[in-house]
Formats: sequence, structure tokens, C-alpha cells
Amino acid sequence: MLKVDEKNCDQCGSCISICPSDSLILTDVLKINNQTCLRCGKCVKICPFGALTMEK
Ligand code: SF4
Ligand code: SF4
Repeated sequence: MLKVDEKNCDQCGSCISICPSDSLILTDVLKINNQTCLRCGKCVKICPFGALTMEK
């Protein structure tokens, strides 16, 4: 499953715009919907702060 390290997230929004399944939502922190996430890894690659990681 996808996880966000809230300490490193700058809330830049890059991951949200690239997500093909609208699984990322920015409220006060970045929220992940792991039910709809396709595990494509696009958000992990695009994050400039390395805040997203894919775990088993
Ligand atoms: S892994 Fe892919 S589908 Fe899942 S949140 Fe990231 S960009 Fe969206
Ligand atoms: S791309 Fe990275 S820093 Fe930007 S909102 Fe997403 S997780 Fe946060």
C-alpha cells in the first residue's frame, strides 16, 4: 500500500494531478485512498520530496 510521510510532504500537489485514479486528496494533509489506488507508482516518482513510498 501507498504511504505518505507527512513530515516530508510540502503539499505541492504534483502527485494529485498525475494520479490516474484520483486516489490522492489534499486537505490539511495529503490523504491516500488505498482502496482505489492502482499502485502504478507515478506519484512516488514525481514527488520532489520523496514523501511517498509503496509498501507491501
Ligand atoms: S500509485 Fe498511482 S494510482 Fe496510486 S495514488 Fe499513486 S499515482 Fe495514484
Ligand atoms: S508530490 Fe510529494 S510533496 Fe507534493 S503533495 Fe504529493 S506527496 Fe506531497
